Amino acid sequence: MSRARVLILNAALGPLDYRVPHDMRVEPGSIVIAPLGPRQLVGVVWEEDRFPDVEPVGDNRLRPLLNVLDVPPLPGPLRRLIEWTAHYYVAPPAAVLRMALASISALEGARTVIEYRPTGATPDRMTDQRTQALERIGVRQGLIRELALIGGVSDAVIRGLVKSGAFEPVEVSTDTPFPVPNPGYAPPALSEAQQAASSRFVEAIRAVDFQPFLLDGVTGSGKTEVYFEAIAEAIRQNRQTLVLLPEIALTEPFLERFEARFGTVPVSWHSGLRQSERRRAWRAIASGQAKVVVGARSALYLPYPQLGLIVVDEAHETSFKQEDGVHYHARDVAVMRGLMEKCPVILASATPAIETRHQVELGRYEEIKLPSRFGGAQMPDVIGLNLLTDPPERGRWIAPPLVKAMEETLKKGEQSLLFLNRRGYAPLTLCRHCGYRFQCPNCTAWMVEHRLTRRLACHHCGHVIPAPDICPECKEEDSLVPCGPGVERIADEVRALWPEARVAIVTSDTLWSPAKAAEFVKSVEAGAVDIIVGTQLVTKGYHFPNLTLVGVVDADLGLEGGDLRATERTFQQVMQVAGRAGRGEKPGRVFIQTRVPGAGVMQALISGDTEAFYTAETEQRRRAHAPPFGRFAAIIVSSEDSREAAETARLIGAAAPHVEGMHVYGPAPAPLAVLRGRHRHRLLVHATRQLDVQDILREWLGNVVWKSGTRVAVDIDPYSFV
Ligand code: ADP
Ligand code: ZN
Repeated sequence: MSRARVLILNAALGPLDYRVPHDMRVEPGSIVIAPLGPRQLVGVVWEEDRFPDVEPVGDNRLRPLLNVLDVPPLPGPLRRLIEWTAHYYVAPPAAVLRMALASISALEGARTVIEYRPTGATPDRMTDQRTQALERIGVRQGLIRELALIGGVSDAVIRGLVKSGAFEPVEVSTDTPFPVPNPGYAPPALSEAQQAASSRFVEAIRAVDFQPFLLDGVTGSGKTEVYFEAIAEAIRQNRQTLVLLPEIALTEPFLERFEARFGTVPVSWHSGLRQSERRRAWRAIASGQAKVVVGARSALYLPYPQLGLIVVDEAHETSFKQEDGVHYHARDVAVMRGLMEKCPVILASATPAIETRHQVELGRYEEIKLPSRFGGAQMPDVIGLNLLTDPPERGRWIAPPLVKAMEETLKKGEQSLLFLNRRGYAPLTLCRHCGYRFQCPNCTAWMVEHRLTRRLACHHCGHVIPAPDICPECKEEDSLVPCGPGVERIADEVRALWPEARVAIVTSDTLWSPAKAAEFVKSVEAGAVDIIVGTQLVTKGYHFPNLTLVGVVDADLGLEGGDLRATERTFQQVMQVAGRAGRGEKPGRVFIQTRVPGAGVMQALISGDTEAFYTAETEQRRRAHAPPFGRFAAIIVSSEDSREAAETARLIGAAAPHVEGMHVYGPAPAPLAVLRGRHRHRLLVHATRQLDVQDILREWLGNVVWKSGTRVAVDIDPYSFV
């Protein structure tokens, strides 16, 4: 009798054995439907010896598989990657597998679906709901369910609009092939340094072998152009390329540049796709038809059968770290995938992470440098502004020298960018009469005022309340004052200084869709914006030749909280935003406002001595045995019941094994002590790199029992310490 070991999509269960019916053919990787109790679940057939600890079940007790799906089996290298991820990040294999099978509807076989699109006709009878739906949906197309979600109305409202002629059905085939990018479409003439870099990449792709690269080039050096040449070679070799970007907002400018170079856009993969788009992309990726895929970190686990190249752009970005579910770091897993697939991996950055530089030092990654900007553009002048000796006026945040520089820039008809990494108007609202502060009911966090939408919002859980007029505590009127600035408040200050200037606020609140991002880029390029005020969303990717002045409103902001990478992150962020200045023919200037101008990181930014900064920072990590020289792992215990959370954390702490080379700190209440209504406690494990911390953790936590409402998350190589 033939049997198969199957990993099913249920994170609570390991692999299970099934009987394979006579008329069914399966192989490792086959995607199947398996019975589980009364339910039917998707699963993947796995090599038996990969999970040796499965409880043996007698032949007579095996249940038969129900179906094999008509999609290509998950490739072997991907199965190895799933195993590695589950092991390294101490996660259930099924939770990792779920990321590979990210479109369940794609598994159902080829078909067409009916979507609806607006006709432009106005229904005879309008209601508030209908008006709202039509307004929010705009020109978008989608399933009834998707349109209802976008419109913020029920399915019935959309169906009513269809009946009244405001939407019409469209048949969409989810198997239409994607156009193949043309490697010879518009290749640029490369500079000498670019040519050398590109040749090395081309050579590595032809070698069809694992090779990690660090592409270390200053902002504006042409890193994108160079890795485009690598992509061109992969296309010529008929192999697939995956490009990972740190956030969706960067997808739009990327698509445009890609199209200009290759004559067509690549396939994109991110959380904003419609179901039919997701399905089409997944199937084209799995069949090998999609040649180039650009996406957020979730694109990493898709079933590419012929991966020839992986690019991680802005590889130092911490948003590559997933902070819930499987806590993986997409940059590190990308390198692992390259190893499994036997293909080159390019990590591109102007400010590489210390971990990555360390790999270069160890000789594991090959470093390719682009030391100067393309086309003779100069790096900007960086000027430190001491907020203690040159403070802004009371109630203002832009210091006089920066005001003067902005004035000059405006007069010349050039553009400025003010950077403050804080959304909204003010991070805290308090009552000056009784001292009441608006706090989120679900989180240990202040409610942030958003004046544009007249609301207070929690940036952790999304809880919102209408902007209040009176203090809820003492009922005093006109007593509420905003404390501290967010970008909206800086924009107000700019408008007060230059009422005629055209100001754009750029945050995830204003650039919430690819279309909005494209609109923003167009208006800056067309010269319709004088001053941009933005969060980290504007610090990377954009290339605006007429932007010649950058002001960092509060460079000290990122240093607060003092986690392991606070200094490094501040350095990277300011370097990135500074990199927006003077990218064209006109030279750029950067002003950095700080209260600690003497701090090493500020000195490095002002002098531009990157090497000195990295050397000092690396030395500090070495002395503290911090990553990359030692290893951290966090255990986060959370529960809606505060006593349960504390008690489970205590039990885990008490069960900690004594191991040479490992030290356990805590448990202690997390800095974010309550998040989304859950009480949180943390333990931090610090170990030498020689130890197999994962095995120790598995055994340790395996010996502790906790109640079902309590969650225990393991975070290997944590980036967040709250
Ligand atoms: P980086 O990614 O290193 O910041 P980019 O790839 O964005 O740099 O390049 C900066 C600008 O210079 C872009 O507008 C890009 O199109 C242009 N550029 C770079 N290299 C070339 C080249 N060889 N030919 C033409 N334009 C180039
Ligand atoms: Zn909250």
